[in-house]
Amino acid sequence: MLYGAHVSSAGGIANAVDRGSEIGCDAIQIFTQSPRMWRPTDHTPEAVALFRERRAETGIQSVVCHALYLVNLASPDREIRKKSAGAMRATLETASAIGAEGVIFHVGSHLGDGLAAGVRRVVPAMRSLLELTTDDLWLLMENSAGPGATVGRSTEELERIYDRLDHHPRLGICLDSCHWFASGVDVTDPEALDAAIDGLDRQIGLDRLRCLHVNDSQTSLGSNRDRHESVGRGLMGDGISVFLRHPAFRDLPAILETPGPDSHGPDAAELARLRALGP
Ligand SMILES: [Zn+2]
Ligand SMILES: [Zn+2]
Repeated sequence: MLYGAHVSSAGGIANAVDRGSEIGCDAIQIFTQSPRMWRPTDHTPEAVALFRERRAETGIQSVVCHALYLVNLASPDREIRKKSAGAMRATLETASAIGAEGVIFHVGSHLGDGLAAGVRRVVPAMRSLLELTTDDLWLLMENSAGPGATVGRSTEELERIYDRLDHHPRLGICLDSCHWFASGVDVTDPEALDAAIDGLDRQIGLDRLRCLHVNDSQTSLGSNRDRHESVGRGLMGDGISVFLRHPAFRDLPAILETPGPDSHGPDAAELARLRALGP
């Protein structure tokens, strides 16, 4: 398992590598631009080269990028879909330039007109984005906690999209422990977890699982609310080790997206705790 965290890329993306390395990461996740603004960040060739150089020097083994929070490829609003596709395109381009292994995104929300309509809108958008992927850079759908009209609240919903995209060879999955728990899968219970992972294997295939988000939850099993908590401090507590130690996850990056001690993200102590709880 490659232990890691979402780290800030403020002041230049190469800084993210150093921030991750300082707190003890083997893997990092970054935003390639401000996640709450549509306007893309222009990364100079020097910044990209520095990122690659720092990665090689620090020995960070895995890098994934997370798409903007604003992205909604399932939106009924054509303008939002267009902006979303443009933002995803920019993220994939930066991810490719810096040598990242995946771009993770939330499939989106149909905003009330139903899952089928949402899937119908997402599929063509994803098909054209998949053209920007390579053998080294995959597009990864993240499971959602399941509030409101989100698409991807279960592995069955992700399977629908996967099937509609004809099992595209560079389409994968990122599983978030907090989202799975909130959507009703008790990831701290070995039998429930086994059953859910068997389901994922049948529906999509474990070879498509490329990344984990390891977050504890502030809200209860099946609450459908997306509230991350620092590892060991939420309702999963040390039970999160059941999730971390599942043999299906052994070779994956395990990324913290937690508030951390001061709401500035995970620190070295939380990384150490993650390692202690993991395999
Ligand atoms: Zn996540
Ligand atoms: Zn979340």
